[in-house]
Amino acid sequence: MPIRLDWGMAACIYCCAPSESGDHVPPKGLIRPVRRVNLWRVPSCHGCNGGASRDEEYFRLMIIGALCHTPEADELFDGAISRSMDKCPAKESALFDSFDVDPQGRPVLAWDPKPIARIAVKIATGLAHAMGEAPPPQRYRIALEEAEGRGDHTRWAPDFSFTHSACTWELWFFDSVRIMIGPADLQQHPPADS
Ligand SMILES: [Zn+2]
Repeated sequence: MPIRLDWGMAACIYCCAPSESGDHVPPKGLIRPVRRVNLWRVPSCHGCNGGASRDEEYFRLMIIGALCHTPEADELFDGAISRSMDKCPAKESALFDSFDVDPQGRPVLAWDPKPIARIAVKIATGLAHAMGEAPPPQRYRIALEEAEGRGDHTRWAPDFSFTHSACTWELWFFDSVRIMIGPADLQQHPPADS
């Protein structure tokens, strides 16, 4: 007797494996706690959901901890981020070891761009899914800059906003840092109006 298998399930939006959980967009650890109703969740496998946590820690340390200087970012830094560093002193070293000086003696931040890029693209992919828009392109370019304000961007949560046009996404954290993700030929974005 022929066996027939026929069932439906959601696919992980990141890797297409069967979904096993809901992944928060953006990851909850990157912003101060928000009301549940504000959280977007997208289908995700366990690997893609939990597997990014080290990258998220690094992102949080480097972007929120080192670059965002608003009282709101300080609040997150003094709370969850500091607790995480207390538990694992290696994280604290990672942050302070990343401060360097350039040949002119100015302080610069030396970091590993790969985990930052992975998290930024993951967030943009999640936003695209939640909004029914096209995800970031396969070949992308990422630019990050300190920037004040958020312009007329979609306010998703008090500490995070975003906008997109065509294949280009802009993510804003704590009105302090803007990350742009676009096609590999993305031109340098003009400075924000001040
Ligand atoms: Zn997956």
